[in-house]
Amino acid sequence: MIPAMLGAAALALSLAAHAQTDERRNLAFETVERNAESIATIGDRLYYYAELGMQEQESTKFLKETLEAIGFKVDLGGAGFPTSVWAQWESGKPHIVVVTEIDALPEGSQTPGSIERKPLVKGAPGHMEGHNTHGAVAIGAAYAVKRVMERYKLPGTVSLSFGPAEEQLVSRPFLVRAGLFKDADAAILIHIGDNFSTGYGLQNYAAISAKFTFHGKTAHGAVNPWEGRDAVDAVELMDMGFDKLREHLRPSQRAHRTITIGGIQPNIIPDLGQIWWFVRDANAPWAKENFDKLVNIARGAAMMTGTTMEMEVVASAWPQLGNRVIAEAIQKNIDTVGNPKWSDEEQKFAREFQSALGLKAVGLAPAPVKFGGRPQSFASNDSGDVTWNVPAGNLNFPASVPGVNYHNWQAAVTPISTIAHKGEVAGAKVLAASLLDLLSSRELLEKAKAQFREDTRDTPYFSFLPADANPPLELNREMMERFRPEMRKHYLNRAPRFN
Ligand SMILES: [Zn+2]
Repeated sequence: MIPAMLGAAALALSLAAHAQTDERRNLAFETVERNAESIATIGDRLYYYAELGMQEQESTKFLKETLEAIGFKVDLGGAGFPTSVWAQWESGKPHIVVVTEIDALPEGSQTPGSIERKPLVKGAPGHMEGHNTHGAVAIGAAYAVKRVMERYKLPGTVSLSFGPAEEQLVSRPFLVRAGLFKDADAAILIHIGDNFSTGYGLQNYAAISAKFTFHGKTAHGAVNPWEGRDAVDAVELMDMGFDKLREHLRPSQRAHRTITIGGIQPNIIPDLGQIWWFVRDANAPWAKENFDKLVNIARGAAMMTGTTMEMEVVASAWPQLGNRVIAEAIQKNIDTVGNPKWSDEEQKFAREFQSALGLKAVGLAPAPVKFGGRPQSFASNDSGDVTWNVPAGNLNFPASVPGVNYHNWQAAVTPISTIAHKGEVAGAKVLAASLLDLLSSRELLEKAKAQFREDTRDTPYFSFLPADANPPLELNREMMERFRPEMRKHYLNRAPRFN
C-alpha cells in the first residue's frame, strides 16, 4: 500500500515537473517567434559589417548596444582583446555560457541573393561562412531565456562570449588563460550549418600555427657568396627536414606550410627568410609532439646555415570535445523544434543554386541529422580550448544551402536570406531550450560534469600558448581599414527591438 502510494505521489510530482518544463520551453519558443524580425535584423546588420578577425569593432559595438538594451551587462576587451564581447545576465548559479564568433573572411564580399559573382565592394571581406547568423541566434535565445527565468524566478546566470578571430584560431586559448570560463558550469558552442545537428566526442582537430623567421647575412651571389648566410636556405632545409619527418609521424597528422618571405633577387644572398606552418593531429598531445619536432627541425636548419631563428606562435586550437550528456539534451530539443518549414521558393532557389555550382540539386535539409557520433573533422576551431575546461555541447543550426562550401564567396549568397532567417529562429529555439535544461536540472548538470571528468581524465588541458604570447592586435587591421569606408555605404540602419 504505502510504496504504491509513494509511487503515485512521485509520478504526480514528476508529471507536474514535466508540465512545468514544457510551459517554460513553450514560453521561450513563443518569445523567439515573436521576435523573429529582430533576430533577423541582428544577423543582417552583422552581415554588412563583415569585419575580419581582431577588427570586429562595428560588430561588437552593435552587439554591446543590443545586449544592453535587453538587460545584459556587457564587457568589451576581455583578455586584452578589444573586440572580445562578454555579455552576462546574472541571477545566481548555475552559470551557462554560449560560445560563438562573428568574424568574416577576406574577399568574401558578395551581393546577397545573387548566384552570379557580384561583390558588394570589390576585394572586400564578407561573411562567407555565415558567422553573422551566430549573433542572431545567441541573442535571440538569450532574450527568451532571460524572460523565462524572470517569469519563473529561476536562479542562474547566462553569458554570451563572442571570441574574436575564430577564422584564424586566435582568441579562445587567451580567453581561457585569462580565466573567463573558470566559474562556468557548462557551455554551448553554436555554429551555422546546412543541417540541424549536435555531436559528441572529438569533433575536429588540434592545430598549432607558427611562423619561423631566419636571419642571415647578405652578400653578392657571385662575388663573395661565402661571406653570406642564406636565410632562405634555412627555410628550404626546414621544409625538407619536415618532409623527412612525415614518414615517422602518425598517419593521422596533417601539416602544411607557405613560404612568406623568400628573398628578393637571385644575386643577393637573402638575409631574411620566413616559413609559416600549421601542424595538426587528432588530439592535442599529438599535435604538440609534432610541433616540438618541427621546432627542432627549425633549430637544425638555423645551425646548418649559420643563421638565427625566431619563432612566433600565431594561433592554436584544441579539438572540440562534445559532451555526450549535453549533446543528448540538445538533440531532444532539436527533435522537438524540427527543421524549418522551407517554402517552395526557398527550395527552388536552393536547387537552382546547387545546379549552378554543379552539385546535385537536393534542395534544403528536410529533417535534423540522427543522433550519433559523427566523424572527426580535420579542420579546427579555437573554441576547442573551452571544451577541455568546461563541459560543452555543440549545436549546428540549419541556415545555409547544403553542398555550398564555406570559405568560398558562394557561401556569402544566403546568410541574410529567408533561409538564414528561418534557421536563426530554429537555432535560437533549440539554444534557448537547451540553456533552460542546463539551468533548471541539477541532475543534468551533474551528469554532464561526470561525463566531462571521464572524457578529460587521461588528457588534462595544457595551453599551447607560449608564456609570453600576446593578442595579435594588428591582425587584419590594414585590410579592414582599407575597405571599411566603402563597406560603410552598405550598412543597415534597422535596429532590433525585442519585446
Ligand atoms: Zn566558423
